[in-house]
Order: sequence, then C-alpha cells, then structure tokens
Amino acid sequence: MRILVIEDEAKIAQFVKRGLKEEGYAVDVAVDGEEGHFMLSSNEYDAIILDLMLPKIDGLTLCRTLRKEGNQVPIIMLTAKDTVKDKVKGLDSGADDYLPKPFAFEELLARVRVVLRKKDSRVQTQLKVEDLVLDLLTHKVTRGNREIDLTVKEYALLEYLMRNAGNIVTRTMISEHVWDINFDTFTNVIDVYINYLRNKIDSGTTEKMIHTVRGKGYLLKK
Ligand code: CA
Repeated sequence: MRILVIEDEAKIAQFVKRGLKEEGYAVDVAVDGEEGHFMLSSNEYDAIILDLMLPKIDGLTLCRTLRKEGNQVPIIMLTAKDTVKDKVKGLDSGADDYLPKPFAFEELLARVRVVLRKKDSRVQTQLKVEDLVLDLLTHKVTRGNREIDLTVKEYALLEYLMRNAGNIVTRTMISEHVWDINFDTFTNVIDVYINYLRNKIDSGTTEKMIHTVRGKGYLLKK
C-alpha cells in the first residue's frame, strides 16, 4: 500500500513517513498542495494524508479539486484546528476522515487502516489464501502451522500479492504500490524480493503459491 503525505512541516512529514514505513507502507512526501496535486496525477496512491494549511494550494481546495476530478483516493485530513466547524468543512470537501494535531502516531495508523479497509469495502483483519494467512493488525504470517518471519518489505510485497490473489500483478503495479517514488525501474529489486518471499513461503512445500507469469509478472495462487 502506497501513501502520499502532503505536509509542509518537515518534522511532522518525516515523523509520519518514518512511522508508516516501519509498518510496511511505501510513502512519498509532497511539501505543498501543488506538488501534491502533481504527484497524484503521475502516481497511483492507496491513501493520502493531507494537511489543511499548505502553501500554494491549501488542503480543503486540493481535496475538493481531487473529488471534482473524480479521484476517489481515501483522504485523511490533518489540521491544527480542532473545531466542529473545521471538521465539517473537511468532511464536506470530500475527506474520509479528520485528525487534529497534535496526534499520536498510533491513532493516525488506526485511521489509515480504517480508510484502506473502506476502500476494500470488506471488513477484514486477515488475508487468507488457502493455508497462507496474513494478519493485518499483528503482521503475523503463517502457512499451515508454520510461522513465517518476514522483513517489513517482504511483508508489504506479500500483502500486495495476497490482496490481488488469483490475478497477475505486473512489476509496474508492484513498484507503484509497494515501493516509493525513489524506486529505480532499472534494477531487479522486485525479482530479488519475490525470491526472498518464495524461499520463505514455498520452501519445504510441494504446493507452490508464488508463480511467475513469463513476460507479465507474478501471480499468487495455490
Ligand atoms: Ca501546514
């Protein structure tokens, strides 16, 4: 899952970015509304964390513009003001949720999970494909009775493959949802991580789950 943080206060942006990356999200940061709008037009994001007071284009205007353009990406609005009026304005502009500053990172994280879940339109805390189970809250991954220890990036890649189980995902799709804007298209880093995952998920079993579709991408299925 890839998230865009649009926030001009560098300290907050870095705090949010670091925290989300530790949870396995790919995160990009835009420092004003204009840059945010540009990044949204050139990349695909699963959610946005949008500050209200921003240079160039403010959060409310950007939110309204995106909705007018038909962009339905889930938006969590951040603001220094905690008044009912501001909250209503934020939600009226098309934001999905609203979080007044200062906030605890855990609360932001919980809200990110909620808006991503809404986007899925399924209430779920687990992804399950046959005997492979990924717990979205604890990040515990098991195959059968075996617990699988994954790095943050391996976890993020597996989550993406499992959310798209049964469908081919291309390297471009993976790079857009699991890696951030610094992803280098000319490396084989995705194949390397696929191999790491394969070694951990499929090793010791006859039922392989991670398949390569030649010339297209990867497919997770039994
Ligand atoms: Ca601000």
